[in-house]
Amino acid sequence: MDKKAVKFGYVVTRDRQIDFDANDHSISRRVADAEPSLNLCISCGTCSATCSAAQFTDFSLRKIILLLRRGEIKSLEKEISKCMLCGKCQLVCPRNVSTRNLILQISKALTTVHP
Ligand code: SF4
Ligand code: SF4
Repeated sequence: MDKKAVKFGYVVTRDRQIDFDANDHSISRRVADAEPSLNLCISCGTCSATCSAAQFTDFSLRKIILLLRRGEIKSLEKEISKCMLCGKCQLVCPRNVSTRNLILQISKALTTVHP
């Protein structure tokens, strides 16, 4: 660390490179075929703000959709199991994404990766 650097009491988060082209997009395509409303998501986060599971865990549907679209599927299986399928997210989504079916289709598609 630069000894001359002024300490402000916080650190800058390290950047994370995403090799988009090298990632596996087959799961995202499969989910979009089964639930086309995936393509309507604008990552607004309204679903996460009202999510029942997010009140008790670090679960975020917005983040799951982002990771899925980036082809970063490694952590998705564990994350998606936290969803209680209560459907609150579907009631508030401004883009009418069919979130419950989306979650089910993501789970289903992931079983093809880890049967
Ligand atoms: S509320 Fe709907 S549009 Fe917004 S992030 Fe969630 S799924 Fe996407
Ligand atoms: S269905 Fe799942 S993602 Fe949607 S609000 Fe309920 S727990 Fe959260």
